[in-house]
Amino acid sequence: MAFAAETICVQGSNERRDPFGAISMPIYQNAAYAHPGLGKSTGYDYSRCGNPTRDEVQKTVALLEQGTEALAFSTGMAAITALMEIFSPGDHLIATDDLYGGTLRLWNTISHKNGISVDCVDTSNVETVKAAIRPETKAIYLETPSNPMMKVADIQAIAELAHAHECLLIVDNTFLSPYFQKPLTLGADIVVHSGTKYLEGHNDTLSGFLVVKDDALYQQLNNIYKTTGACLSAFDSWLLLRGIKTLAVRMEQHQKNALAIAHWLEQRPEVEKVYYIGLDSRPDKALIDRQCSGYGGMISFRLNSAEKAVKILESVKLIRFAESLGGVESLLTYPMKQTHADVPVEVREALGVDEKLLRMSVGIENIDDLLADLEQAFA
Ligand SMILES: *Cc1c(COP(=O)(O)O)cnc(C)c1O
Repeated sequence: MAFAAETICVQGSNERRDPFGAISMPIYQNAAYAHPGLGKSTGYDYSRCGNPTRDEVQKTVALLEQGTEALAFSTGMAAITALMEIFSPGDHLIATDDLYGGTLRLWNTISHKNGISVDCVDTSNVETVKAAIRPETKAIYLETPSNPMMKVADIQAIAELAHAHECLLIVDNTFLSPYFQKPLTLGADIVVHSGTKYLEGHNDTLSGFLVVKDDALYQQLNNIYKTTGACLSAFDSWLLLRGIKTLAVRMEQHQKNALAIAHWLEQRPEVEKVYYIGLDSRPDKALIDRQCSGYGGMISFRLNSAEKAVKILESVKLIRFAESLGGVESLLTYPMKQTHADVPVEVREALGVDEKLLRMSVGIENIDDLLADLEQAFA
């Protein structure tokens, strides 16, 4: 029986494994499993290769993304690093130009050394992506909405393009979570998550996921996973399960608060531009409403001066000046100095990531309290 997202969040795979009927999935803090006999297994032999608590979070995330299998990693970067092992020297990838700084650092340093090249282009334009395809291109890698400029790529159109050229489509779905966007249903082959963000949702646990819908791809990735070993611990798997239980209600509240803050920012004379995918004024609104079932809680905005941006960062009290995103607490980030510190200045500025740009991960606090904090920080 197929359940709705809210039910999957709360109930997980709904496979009642616990012999004592525990409602909360037990934490199998365990490395090795006894064999019932020669050549027999309970299904578990060694926790790097499989752990019941981790299996449950993997099944839950796979169900939420409408994939068949998921792999849970110790961090989002561990997931992306393992994913890069499916490529070989000489392979070429096309990626969103405006994406998570750590992913870019991985490609520029480690992948580059391994002979894999990545071209970052504006993936909000399908023609630009098409023009970047070469005979050796093996995958297209999207972040949509992008970070921090909130550009949206047409997943379905790019999936068709990728498949016409025998390329994989990979989508980092961290920003919207499967509650608001399901790339596998739009043609993507692999979904990436930093589970540290909305999935876990409480700014306290790192994790990463790869989700697929194709068995051969799963076997290939699972083999890399078991071999390289950056798997999520039982305790952190349990924290993820606990976080995911409230994903649906959190996402609704993040979005409600973000819409109110985006509208408030639009009215402020100090704000030059607001970047939020929930704004009706966006030219790509039709695509957003076709592709996503909600807009999430991530907003970027450009102030009319660098001094103002810095003053706001240093004046917020309830909202914290910190990196990361997707947790219940509201955070304000200075992308130029934090997430994009490693991106070359010319590239960063061409993207619009300058000293006047701030990014806010809107939490689930009371909206009047958040607006009052912004009001005093802007004053
Ligand atoms: C944070 C983040 C990552 C990296 O995840 P970690 O859990 O920090 O390793 C990758 N992609 C996006 C979009 C992120 O926000």
